[in-house]
Amino acid sequence: MSTYIFGHTSPDSDSIVGAMALAYLKNQLGEDCVPTRQGEISAETEFILNKFNGTVPELKTSYAGENVYLVDFSDKAQAPKDIMEATILGIVDHHKLGDLTTSTPLECWIRPIGCSNTVVKEMFDHHKVEIPKDLAGMMMCSILSDTVIFKSPTCTKVDTKAVKELAEICGVEDYKSLAMEMFIAKSAVNGASARNLNTRDYKEFDMNGVKVGVNQLEMVDISALDDRRRDIFEDMKLIKEENGLHTIIVLLTDIMKEGSTLYTVSDDESKIEKAFNTKLENSQVWLDGVLSRKKQVIPFIQPLF
Ligand code: MG
Ligand code: MG
Ligand code: MG
Repeated sequence: MSTYIFGHTSPDSDSIVGAMALAYLKNQLGEDCVPTRQGEISAETEFILNKFNGTVPELKTSYAGENVYLVDFSDKAQAPKDIMEATILGIVDHHKLGDLTTSTPLECWIRPIGCSNTVVKEMFDHHKVEIPKDLAGMMMCSILSDTVIFKSPTCTKVDTKAVKELAEICGVEDYKSLAMEMFIAKSAVNGASARNLNTRDYKEFDMNGVKVGVNQLEMVDISALDDRRRDIFEDMKLIKEENGLHTIIVLLTDIMKEGSTLYTVSDDESKIEKAFNTKLENSQVWLDGVLSRKKQVIPFIQPLF
């Protein structure tokens, strides 16, 4: 019986490539593992897979009775619905510890660093397994994505070192310009529906029994969305209703200006104002220097519930 390896819902490049990389490593170590995904891949992930000859993992949303490894999350709200009927053999992640529990001992690699793929890179080094050229390129791009080309406050020396070593393996000298190309691919919004935009990098959190949804759009220039703001806002109201949320937040992150416009629809906007010590105007505010949801947004919202 194969073991499945997958990342969070609305998978980003770290979730897809992390599952592929961990599955490769586990297979080298003699475990029969298959990478899967819980949803459609993003334009950014497509760019990475095309660049380095990657195959899109199989879509699989139900795991009852299966053995699994989780990559890039440990929150139940970001897991398949039947996750409690699966056996979690391990977790490889770089987020806050979530609310998933296990009934058996597990292998746990959770580190406060910039990317799950950096953790997987450390696992390769630990086991002295060589990383194939193309896989190294995909892992490198995932780290450059999660760390916003090293600009995110989540980025550590471990991440920059991993990128340099992976760049060497895949033979890409100018990895920063490759990363810019990748972010430009990620920033394409032409023809995208408001729902597509609002769910591109959407995550739900259970905050002491209260549901909060946070989406993040990382772009090279958020002014490309200026004429879509009304649509985005109207659709946020619908998602809040449909998912029974207390609060929905959309972060429009400008990676060049290094900050985010935060939009919210909330049962209590004052909570958000308090979290960021600011005033909302038309339910929005520019937060200078805010690039990271996990480090600069969630930790300030969670204590309010
Ligand atoms: Mg992720
Ligand atoms: Mg990640
Ligand atoms: Mg991200």
